[in-house]
Formats: sequence, structure tokens, C-alpha cells
Amino acid sequence: MKAEKFLILYEIEAMTIQENLHKIKQAIPAGVKLVAVSKTKPIEDIQLAYDAGHKSFGENKAQELAGKQPKLPLDIEWHFIGHLQRNKVKYIAPFVSLVHGVDSFRLLAEINKQAAKNKRLINCLLQFHIATEQTKFGFSLAEAREILSSQAFQELKSIKICGVMGMATFTSEEAQIRNEFRNLKMSFDTLKKQFFANDDFFREISAGMSNDFQIAIEEGSTLVRIGSDIFGARSH
Ligand SMILES: *Cc1c(COP(=O)(O)O)cnc(C)c1O
Repeated sequence: MKAEKFLILYEIEAMTIQENLHKIKQAIPAGVKLVAVSKTKPIEDIQLAYDAGHKSFGENKAQELAGKQPKLPLDIEWHFIGHLQRNKVKYIAPFVSLVHGVDSFRLLAEINKQAAKNKRLINCLLQFHIATEQTKFGFSLAEAREILSSQAFQELKSIKICGVMGMATFTSEEAQIRNEFRNLKMSFDTLKKQFFANDDFFREISAGMSNDFQIAIEEGSTLVRIGSDIFGARSH
């Protein structure tokens, strides 16, 4: 009896995650990539999404990610999406596919060092501070330009800057969210022109979460990071 009840609950959950995933994929145009944000969720939930054919997942805690990665299929592409502390880079450097939230030169230098140690090239995005909230991290355009112009940056051979990332203010004001994403796109365009005009790999704008991904896509996002709309609300 108990096992049967568990099985039914499991099947309902499987259907929900897979249906949510399907719905989100239909809402996203072909050129936009989906990162399914699985932070705080158990590996069983990630496996369900994987079994439905999805391979890109995002986590925002280095140790949580390092704990999950070996227990799941090895062809999963892992994205680190949150604020990364320098002393945690080593946990994810052996396998991470894209670090979205690079918000200081010192962090970039540490990622470079750990990438070299692992004989890897790690793809990174520069995070921009586009929201009005002070709690969010990220560069201004001037700061990003200064880094990219520096000799010290030229010496980092084991990282590749593939674009930008930003998080809009948590608000119901659509016009404000739109404006913030528009600013991110302007920063992307400026950097592309000045530093990466001939580099095909500089092409990603990571913007948009469950509550604002439609607006982000309209404003140029190439990569959306969606958690709760796929896996359900988080308890923390
Ligand atoms: C949690 C998180 C997301 C996903 O948020 P949802 O609202 O659950 O879609 C996206 N990006 C970052 C950086 C996050 O920390």
C-alpha cells in the first residue's frame, strides 16, 4: 500500500516537471537557450528533467553543485549562475560549463588559475549590475571596459568571456524590468563592438528568470535561467 502511494506521487511529480519543461520550451524561441535552475532540488528531480531530454542545468552553490554532479549523467552541462566566492571555484572548475556571474577581476583570475590546473578553458559571462537593488552584484559598463582593456586580463589564457549576464529588479513594474534588460543589451553591444567584434564566441546575454523571461527575450536574451516554473517553488 505504502509503496503504491509513493509510486503514484512520484508519477505525478514526474509528469509535472516534464510538462512544465515542455511548456517552457514551447514559450521560448529557437535561438534562446534554456538553463533549468535546479538549486535546492533533489537529484531525482534533475534526473526527471534529464529523462525528458533536457541537458543544461544551473546551480548557485558551489558545494551543492559539486555534490550533485557525480551522481547524475556525465553529459549534463552544468551552469554556475549565482555569486561565486573565490575560495569555492576549485569545487566546480573540473567540470563547469559556463560561469554566469563573474563580478570581479579577482574572481576571473581565480577561475583562470583553477581552469589551468584542470587543463581546461572555462567559459564565463561578465555580470552587470542592472537592477536598482544594491544587494545584487555586477559591474558597471565602465568597470567592465577597464578590465577588458587591462594587460592583466590579456594574460588570462584559460578563461573565455562569452557574453554578459544580468538580473532585473524584483518588481511587478514591467517598464522598469524592460528598461534594465535593455541596458544589459546596450552594454553587450558596446563590449562586442569594442573588444569582441571578430569573436563569434562573444554572443550570450544571460537574462530572464521565471517571472521575467518573456520580457528578457523580447529585449535580446539568448539564455534564460528558469527554476520555479519548471521544478516548482523552493522552500528556501
Ligand atoms: C534562482 C535563480 C534563478 C531562477 O529563478 P526562478 O525565479 O526560480 O526561475 C535564475 N538566476 C539566478 C541567478 C538564480 O539565483
